[in-house]
Order: sequence, then structure tokens, then C-alpha cells
Amino acid sequence: MIKVYLCLLLLLTTRIAGAFEVFACEPEWGSLLKELGGDAIQINVGASALQDVHVIEAKPSLIAKVRRADLIVCSGADLEIGWLPQLIRQAGNPKVASGAGYFMASDQITTLEKPTSLDRSEGDIHAQGNPHFQLDPYRVLAIAKALAARLSQLDSAHAADYQKRLDDFSTRWQAAIKTWEAKAAPLKGRKVVVHHMSWIYLLQWLGMEQIGALEPKPGVPPTSGHLATLVDLTKNSHTLAILRAAYQDPKPGDWLSQQTGVPAVTLPFSVGGDDKSKDLFGMFDSTIDKLLAAAK
Ligand SMILES: [Zn+2]
Repeated sequence: MIKVYLCLLLLLTTRIAGAFEVFACEPEWGSLLKELGGDAIQINVGASALQDVHVIEAKPSLIAKVRRADLIVCSGADLEIGWLPQLIRQAGNPKVASGAGYFMASDQITTLEKPTSLDRSEGDIHAQGNPHFQLDPYRVLAIAKALAARLSQLDSAHAADYQKRLDDFSTRWQAAIKTWEAKAAPLKGRKVVVHHMSWIYLLQWLGMEQIGALEPKPGVPPTSGHLATLVDLTKNSHTLAILRAAYQDPKPGDWLSQQTGVPAVTLPFSVGGDDKSKDLFGMFDSTIDKLLAAAK
């Protein structure tokens, strides 16, 4: 009996001691952690691709995950400002409140659209720049390198494994970037209208142009005057598509599509945003295939 108890105790302690636990705010970082840590780390993801990551509820189940975490990995740049500070405060876990256990992807890269002045009349602007950079594969690679270094620092017993996995991921990722860029060549110069300002990194990477937005100021509903101008602009600009993310309400895009004859295209935006987006590679494959389908 004692022997069984000891075995159980040993099992329990090895499980607790062995599992490096990471909380990822968004599914794209959960997927990147899977690439870099494999089965050696326990990954919990806060939001799904079908949720709006600007406004996640700080539920007790999420607080519990942050409480157990050795590391949190989020986009940062104020994307999660409405819920992450609350999660951290309520979790009371000093390991992830600041310092090495607090990894914001935005700190590893430069952001676009950083405002020069902070005027609230411009809507819910992101003071740290646009936080939707997961759709630029070069920034994802820079983040991967920094994240592997952070994992190695915090979980040094497995540093060699993280490095090996990073090398493997980098090789596959750089090959994939070449494939995506070759495939997406016909998209260069094409114009799109967007729902929310979520696409600037993708569009800049592919040489595409955003000519308008249904939500011209983030978080502020459009006026009827704005919509009338947008209908004309969309109709008269040889517009490829009206882009929206999987989590967004399809109604505004569908309405604009009916008014203009330009197709509304739902892109995954994050891992899990559609059937093909099972990981970061699938997310980019699906995004480019859907844009190309609209261009046919
Ligand atoms: Zn946003």
C-alpha cells in the first residue's frame, strides 16, 4: 500500500515538476508555442479564432490558467488591454506579472500605424501601433526566435530542444514564405476594403492596398455618409474583395457586397479560423488561397 502511495506521489511530483506551463492569449501564439515546445510544454490558449480578442471576458477558468502559468505569451501593443491586466491581477502569480515570464510579441518587433498623437476622437486607437501583426510571416519568424530564447531562459534544462525545434521551424517557415510569395504574385497591386483595420501587415507584405474600411475608426460605428462614400469607392476602384475576420459579424460586409457586387471574403485571421487553419502554416495557406479565389 505504501509502495503504491509512493509511486503515486512520485508520478504527481514528476508531472508538476516536468510540465512547463504557458498561457497564450491568442491561438496563433499557441500554435507557435507548439512548434517550439512540442509536447514538452503544456499550452493553454485564452481566446479562439471565433472570438474578438479585443474584448475577452476575464473568466475564472482563464484566471486559473494564468495562476498556474510559468510564462504568458500575448500579442501585446494594448490588444488585450481590456482583459489581460485583470487576468494577471486576479491570478496573483508574480512569475508572469512582469519580467521574463511576461512575453509580449509586440516587444520583439516594430509595429505599424503608431499614432503620432493620442486623440480619443480617432476611436479606440492602439497607442502602441497596430497589434494585428500575426499575418506578417517575417514578424512571426522574429517573434519565434525571441520566444525560443525566452523558453530556453526559463526552462534551461530543455534549451537544446528549443533551439533544435526553432531551427527546424525556421527552415520550414522560410521555405513556406517563398511558396506563399510566389503563389500570391497575382495579388500585387490589388485593392481591398476591410471591415476592421486588421489587415495592414498582410496587405503590406503582399503589396496590396487598403482603400477603405467599414469601421473607419476602430470601435466607432460608421456614419451613413461614410457608408455612401464607401459604396462609391468600392464600386469604382476595381476592388478585389471586402475582407473580414472569421470572428466578425458578416452583415456589414455582406451589405457592402450587395451594394457593389464586390465579393466579401472571410479570412481565418487566426489559427482555427477555418477548417484549413489548423496551425500557422495552414492559416497562411488558407488566407492566400481565399484571396486568390477572389481574384479569379
Ligand atoms: Zn484592432
